[in-house]
Amino acid sequence: MAAKKRDDGIGRVGTLAEPTGMQAWSPDDGHLLDVQNLAVEFRTRDGVAKAINRASFHLDQGESLAILGESGSGKSVTAQAIMGILDSPPGFVTGGQVFFRGVDLLKLPEDQRRMVRGRRIAMIFQDALSALNPVFTVGWQIAEMFRVHKGLNKSDARAEAIRLMERVNIPAATQRAGNFPHQFSGGMRQRIMIAMALALDPEILIADEPTTALDVTVQAQIMELLGELQAETGMGLILITHDLGVVADVADRINVMYAGRIVEAAEVHDLYAHPAHPYTEGLLESIPRLDQVAGELKAIGGLPPNLTRIPAGCAFNPRCRYAQDICRVDPVPPLVELGGGRSSACHFTHELLAGKLVPAGKLVPAATQVPTATRANRAASEVAAVIEEGIDE
Ligand code: SF4
Repeated sequence: MAAKKRDDGIGRVGTLAEPTGMQAWSPDDGHLLDVQNLAVEFRTRDGVAKAINRASFHLDQGESLAILGESGSGKSVTAQAIMGILDSPPGFVTGGQVFFRGVDLLKLPEDQRRMVRGRRIAMIFQDALSALNPVFTVGWQIAEMFRVHKGLNKSDARAEAIRLMERVNIPAATQRAGNFPHQFSGGMRQRIMIAMALALDPEILIADEPTTALDVTVQAQIMELLGELQAETGMGLILITHDLGVVADVADRINVMYAGRIVEAAEVHDLYAHPAHPYTEGLLESIPRLDQVAGELKAIGGLPPNLTRIPAGCAFNPRCRYAQDICRVDPVPPLVELGGGRSSACHFTHELLAGKLVPAGKLVPAATQVPTATRANRAASEVAAVIEEGIDE
């Protein structure tokens, strides 16, 4: 991999060669970020919670990856482990590698890790209000990034802050730079957080539930903004969300997590059109649809498992309508490559994709098999069609 010229964030232009003490580039790794067999556990009084269990995925330059799952699935912990901001104790990375441009971040000493954090991999959080300092104006807080990290003087740093506020579409940026965080709406505060994250021109932006606290109209605006900024800067984007509906237009690929494991990984349109894992299928069915005016909104029954007591076999089995005896005993179904860049961790992936599974795990008798899509897959296809219509419009 060729080393690339870049500004190191403090005004010096150099190469991406690793600083003293970093280990060698990994041999044939061409990914911007390559997470391999990452394992994280929390040691609590109730026992050891396996928050991430051998998760592997990658992100390329200019690519957008969504990590999706319910609360407790391990998606935010994955981001914290990449950033090196896990609360430890009780959280510990117990295995795996996180290669950023070929260098394993987990092996870096903290001072070098800090050089990567914020400058080369930035993160925005769900709650922008608590992430901003209430006693300083937003202009001052953004400008501080340029003063501290790039050594700009006060007026140049303020000019840069205003330029960034305009870039994230904050109206009357020059005047509003003098306002405090509480004088902005939730959506505008999130734009300010995005501006701060972009200040040092990161190569990867991790957005952890960036729209959860916002109403649906503002959610769409923020997602659109993130998509635009990514296209403009070429950065890699990791979107962490529990809501499949918000990432359809922005993500290139989706990793679905359940109980600390990746259970499905696919290109976004493949996943929407033909989910290969029953959990993904359930998430798709639970998206509210504008064209469905009557009937109950479907939800996945039950709750995610307590991570100190993950069920034997497939962790999803107590909630899965297709579960059979084999699903309730170890080993855990492995994440199997299906071709075309997708994979799934279910004993019955092929039957599900072929429309041969029905609830209760019984195979549909051959004479009555639906050759194309199951009822559930049809519902997912309809959702995909609605999303496609939205994209076309
Ligand atoms: Fe459901 Fe069994 Fe597949 Fe798990 S392995 S998702 S329980 S069918």
